Amino acid sequence: MEESLFDEMKRYVAFDDEDAANLQALGKALEPAFPEIAERFYQRVSAHPAAAAILTEARADGTQFKRAVQRWMEGFFVGPYDSEHVRQVSLIGKAHVRVRLPQQYMITAMNVVRTELTQAAYHLGQPDPARAVLSLNKILDLELAVMLDSYRETYSHQVRQTERQRMERRLEEVSHLANVGELAASLAHEIKNPLAGISGAIQVIGSVLEPDDPRREIISEILSQIDRLDRTARDLLIYARPKPPSRTPKNLGKVIERTVKFLRQGPALHDIPIRCRGLDCGASARIDESQIEQVISNLVLNAAHACEEGGEVSISLWANRDNRYIEIADTGCGMTRESVERAFEPFFTTKVKGTGLGLAICKRIVEAHNGRITIDSVEGKGTQVRIQLLG
Ligand code: ADP
Ligand code: MG
Repeated sequence: MEESLFDEMKRYVAFDDEDAANLQALGKALEPAFPEIAERFYQRVSAHPAAAAILTEARADGTQFKRAVQRWMEGFFVGPYDSEHVRQVSLIGKAHVRVRLPQQYMITAMNVVRTELTQAAYHLGQPDPARAVLSLNKILDLELAVMLDSYRETYSHQVRQTERQRMERRLEEVSHLANVGELAASLAHEIKNPLAGISGAIQVIGSVLEPDDPRREIISEILSQIDRLDRTARDLLIYARPKPPSRTPKNLGKVIERTVKFLRQGPALHDIPIRCRGLDCGASARIDESQIEQVISNLVLNAAHACEEGGEVSISLWANRDNRYIEIADTGCGMTRESVERAFEPFFTTKVKGTGLGLAICKRIVEAHNGRITIDSVEGKGTQVRIQLLG
């Protein structure tokens, strides 16, 4: 606090030379009792569980504490009330931030000091103790004002600094991740072409084998592994180089219908019943059609995969005034709690042939549409994945 502000406050509480003289006299009379008052103050503070815990945590040693209290009393009884005095009192506010003493304790502790000193003043048997106590009240409030001010300043400085450090760390993380992501994407890109070449060559070799040649099985295994690598590389590219969605209003029921029709042509959904609800509700949203198709397709494939041992998949669409909801539910194997927690992490998979990128991609796409995606699942019962999009 600036000295000028302190002077201003002195004027506010009408602290004048007479007060200073009263305090000088009172201080002189009380001085022999300072150690005792400091001791009692220390006892009161340590008897309070929360305040005592803070003292212990700060490893505040009792002797030092009492000496500091005594020095402070000497300071405000004697003056002078100049910039050096303000600086000393500010240090107390600062120290309280350092030991993480909540601000309210400064106010309550001041009350303890005030009571102790007032009682002591009345016990001295001097003429007109009330006048001295008035001056005492003025200075204690001034001291408190300075402490609170320096507390606030130190505290907000500390908060800003922690916030800045947190931001800096986060930035570092993000740029590190961006580098790793870019590297992964380049690698995936590099892998895709030779993979296509290898796959072609293996197919040529396979095609000249007799139908009952046992090596056909090996060829088919190689092709399935190549296919898996190719899918990983493709998903990685989609994940690591996300395109900003190019959004236009679309009828969501139609988009879902087309996606499911396309998926049904593949082998994954062959024997699994799929039920659709609400696709004709007319709900539309501003979406990047091919990205949302990708989301639905990833989710339906996951649901179908969960139903391989039995179960069915249902896709529902509904809307209210502001939001559109798409839910892909299945009565398949369900997920453990840990899987639900980690499901959106890139590369988290429990499948032998999984890439672990399907849900990570879904989340990225849905969030790029300012939407939300959530999973509810009960192990052994089934899973519901819900997407909420703005209309
Ligand atoms: P992948 O399908 O390649 O494993 P995903 O990101 O799509 O990767 O899914 C991650 C994991 O979440 C899956 O391996 C699976 O354990 C779990 N999961 C996702 N959807 C379902 C579902 N409908 N039912 C049960 N488990 C699921
Ligand atoms: Mg998947």
